[in-house]
Amino acid sequence: MMSRIQQLIRQIDDRQHELIELLTTLISFKTAAPPARNTKEAQLYVAQFLEEIGFSIDMWDVYPNDPNVVGVRKGKKSATHQSLIINSHIDVAEVREDEQWESNPFQPIIKNDSIIGRGAADMKGGLAGALFALKLLSEESITLAGDIIFQSVIGEEVGEAGTLQCTKRGYDADFALVVDTSDLHIQGQGGVITGWITIKSDRTYHDATRRNMIHAGGGLFGASAIEKMMKLIEGLQNLERHWAITKQYEGYPPGTNTINPAVIEGGRHAAFIADECRLWITVHYYPDETYEQVIREIEEHLMNVAKADTWLRENPPTFTWGGSSMIEDRGEIFPSLEVDPNHEAVKLLAQSHEKIHHNPVVIDVSPSVTDGCWFAEAGIPAAIYGPGDFLNAHAINEQISIDQLIAFTKTMIHFIYQWSNQEKRYM
Ligand SMILES: [Zn+2]
Repeated sequence: MMSRIQQLIRQIDDRQHELIELLTTLISFKTAAPPARNTKEAQLYVAQFLEEIGFSIDMWDVYPNDPNVVGVRKGKKSATHQSLIINSHIDVAEVREDEQWESNPFQPIIKNDSIIGRGAADMKGGLAGALFALKLLSEESITLAGDIIFQSVIGEEVGEAGTLQCTKRGYDADFALVVDTSDLHIQGQGGVITGWITIKSDRTYHDATRRNMIHAGGGLFGASAIEKMMKLIEGLQNLERHWAITKQYEGYPPGTNTINPAVIEGGRHAAFIADECRLWITVHYYPDETYEQVIREIEEHLMNVAKADTWLRENPPTFTWGGSSMIEDRGEIFPSLEVDPNHEAVKLLAQSHEKIHHNPVVIDVSPSVTDGCWFAEAGIPAAIYGPGDFLNAHAINEQISIDQLIAFTKTMIHFIYQWSNQEKRYM
């Protein structure tokens, strides 16, 4: 059987034009998020592709015109052999009007052995390679003993958990592979959570009262919410530095655990003292931390800052964490994902990579976040492994190397075949 797999892997070189055509077709669907709500056509295409190679399709709207697609192909020995989720997001980073592309970002071109177009690296390259690998396996009627569950999800670029919807719907497997941008490293990731910190005065004062609240003998116990927020920002900077000094995780440069004061809103008019101020922060934390832990640390620290201030002590800040969409409710959360290098599937993937590349795979951590986290949350072992690099993700003239795309597809064939024909460990 292995020799048939090797033949199949060799076929990819001869049939690379088909793989390239598949990728350029996928890129031509304008699935940018924001604005989002535009993936239906592309998802129908993916669904049809999967259906033609023997998958049964489950497609449902997560948002209007943004459906998830899950294809399931039952293995020949489903109960006893390892199942696999392959996960990919169909949305791509937005294209702003002032971006100077070499060509139309949705009409990809080939230049210097690379394909240029929005989503080439993040992550329609991974999607095309994974689909093409499954197509070749099915054309040759290669027996796969375990179940394959293919997820094409929406919303990843704007923190909408299309993948979370899949796990909530009950899709489960022995291992999940997220074929998102990783430059063919096997990666875990740190977590990201956004939060709003609000300072609010229960009374609104006229601008003319400022002297009374800040000078000796003024007698008015009031404050500007904007000025008080400055104290909390200073507190956040303190905590950020403390984290940089005290926390580390292999693979990350120290201080990757940042607290970014990203957006500030406050005050109502120049004729008033600001009675409310809201700060939107983005927090990055390490794979071995949870967002619950990180939230607790931030809240505790800022409450101590507030206690040391006479006005904030009486008017403490309030917190709103996370959210299900950067578009719908201005908040997101991507939990962390730790990869176990000794997990059977990770070892097999590393072997498959080495077989194709004649070089060992790098196992490290993603500088960004992906939907891999939702599998960790659901208790499904997972890793990120996909073509394309981070210089290109979200970039102008985003591109992917054709050689890397081909190598990825070959690795996928090898890995899918090996994993799915392995018996489950604990029966
Ligand atoms: Zn991505």
